Amino acid sequence: MNRVWLVTGASSGFGRAITEVAVAAGDVVVATARHTEAMRDLADAHPGQVEVLPLDVTDKARIEVVVRDVVDRHGRIDVLVNNAGRSHVGAAEETTDAELRSLFDLHFFGPAALVRAVLPQMRARRSGAIVQMSSMGGQMSFAGFSGYSATKFALEGFSEALVDEVRPLGIKVMIVEPGGFRTSLMDKISVSEEIADYAGTVGTTRRMVRNAGGTEPGDPAKAAAAILAALDAPQTPLHLPLGNDSVDAILTHLDAVRSDVTTWEKTARDTAYPQ
Ligand code: NDP
Repeated sequence: MNRVWLVTGASSGFGRAITEVAVAAGDVVVATARHTEAMRDLADAHPGQVEVLPLDVTDKARIEVVVRDVVDRHGRIDVLVNNAGRSHVGAAEETTDAELRSLFDLHFFGPAALVRAVLPQMRARRSGAIVQMSSMGGQMSFAGFSGYSATKFALEGFSEALVDEVRPLGIKVMIVEPGGFRTSLMDKISVSEEIADYAGTVGTTRRMVRNAGGTEPGDPAKAAAAILAALDAPQTPLHLPLGNDSVDAILTHLDAVRSDVTTWEKTARDTAYPQ
């Protein structure tokens, strides 16, 4: 039986590449984004296999309507891909409350609402998969990415608890952590108003992202193929880093966390009440 996918942010980059590999595998994809015209060619090329629907993931009421409509017409959603996203650079002090909340709406509250909306029918069938597009910035961070990383760390924490709850019900959860991939992400990046004192730290990140578009090492088509392979594996990983940069950054970060824990282990353990 072919699967039914619901992909958010399918109008470009990873979402489009994931749609293409799922279609090549013979599955049906409901491709969603705010701008549906960018997905029209996919629907035209694969009639009956790609369906295009408008969905802004920050619109909770619309999420309910779309999920109900897809389940009514297709009978189920087998795979949810929470992919829609946008990047942002700003020092923690520069990033406004409104900027933070807008990133959280897009990367955390929208995906959480989609998870709640698709789970009842997945639980009923004891089957399904949820793919959470995080980032290597969901495991580690550096100057300029406090807001972006905060949302991806939140998504990862949510997903680590989620997998414990739904794995016994036959539902897979996979967190994808790409490094730099050649999508439209860098072209659409937003930046906070600058404070001069952060020129030496966040300024470096601002320059890096300004010149990054089009030179990222990662190929989204290869990432999409890797996501499909991991999803179909008998042991789907909870974490799937993608790209040399992601693997290196996450391993370095894990070493740093381990070093802090072991260096301060005795102090940490000596904080219990006497037995
Ligand atoms: P793109 O800019 O190419 O794609 C982003 C997609 O998200 C578009 O389809 C856009 O469509 C959609 N989108 C943006 N805002 C909303 C919204 N409010 N509601 C619904 N859809 C929305 O970037 P990527 O493909 O790179 O990004 C996809 C995911 O991958 C993101 O979550 C990003 O954080 C993550 N990622 C990307 C990396 C990279 O190097 N490319 C690295 C690590 C993580 P539209 O504007 O039509 O709504």
